[in-house]
Amino acid sequence: MHRLPALLLPWYAQSARAFPWRADAAPYRVWVSEIMLQQTRAEVVIAYFTRFIAALPTVQALADCPEEQLLKLWEGLGYYSRVRNLQKTAQIVVREHGGALPISADALRRLPGIGDYTAGAIASICHDAATPAVDGNVLRIFARLTADTRPVSDTSFKKECTRTLLAVYEKHLPAGQRGALTQALMELGRTVCTPGARPHCDTCPVRPLCLAAARDIAGTLPVKIPKKPRREEERTIFLCHCRGKIALRRREDTGVLRGMWGLPDLPGTLAENDMLAAAEALGFAVRALRSITHHEHIFTHIHWRMTLCTLDVDAIPADCTLFAPDALPALPSAFGKLI
Ligand code: SF4
Repeated sequence: MHRLPALLLPWYAQSARAFPWRADAAPYRVWVSEIMLQQTRAEVVIAYFTRFIAALPTVQALADCPEEQLLKLWEGLGYYSRVRNLQKTAQIVVREHGGALPISADALRRLPGIGDYTAGAIASICHDAATPAVDGNVLRIFARLTADTRPVSDTSFKKECTRTLLAVYEKHLPAGQRGALTQALMELGRTVCTPGARPHCDTCPVRPLCLAAARDIAGTLPVKIPKKPRREEERTIFLCHCRGKIALRRREDTGVLRGMWGLPDLPGTLAENDMLAAAEALGFAVRALRSITHHEHIFTHIHWRMTLCTLDVDAIPADCTLFAPDALPALPSAFGKLI
């Protein structure tokens, strides 16, 4: 592994894709980009990142941002707890650290939404700290380089990967190169040592070190324990039009999509006749049924089978609010795509 930097860094210097968070790697920008990149491809993140930073250029601006605007800036990225944690952390940073993110990975790790990976990434990229950032990409590369057949979710495997990389960061890197190694590993995992049966070993800069490539087993690694199947849920959802506007309701503070705006919904699938009665029971004064259609949405752990009942209504219940279609608040994509 001590040969890793010598092979990887020159390749990264030549092949790194240009991203706005790389052009100016200020801690605030690196932090926001790393949170966005957790569940989303880099090419998609560019537009969100650019818009977010233009609207909220500082930690202070993020801390002060009204929730509706914040969620709107995040709309489409999903996993809204990420942006809520971003703001919580920004408020702590303003209150307790004078508006500048802490420098050490340990202090970063104590902030909401910042785990080992993000702390390691910020500390190494922004401050050249010897803090490897080990995510699924790095675990995959490590499993292949070492032809390790332990499941990557095995804690001993992750510990060993972190320990080995730490030794590389501390002993085998020229000064000022730790951030580059963190980013080079990320880049390798996203563009060359990709998931699935066909990593691009032919163009891989670290192939001379790779046991999996030498044994022709790269496509079988890393070993993963099969995930539990998603929970199936049926929902009946009401899209109610009232005087040219759409009725939305805040979701409860628990469960899936907590605290977000959404279309009023009920568990289960109702028969057509029962739907109108259910809409009336929710407090809608129904004038006409427009349509009943069926849709699906997949969350990480849940599969929603949705029956969408579109209605014209004359009045809405007190817990709903009417919005013009061109002025909707941030909506989870499960509902946004129905509208
Ligand atoms: Fe991954 Fe292939 Fe490179 Fe090995 S040689 S690190 S399997 S891309």
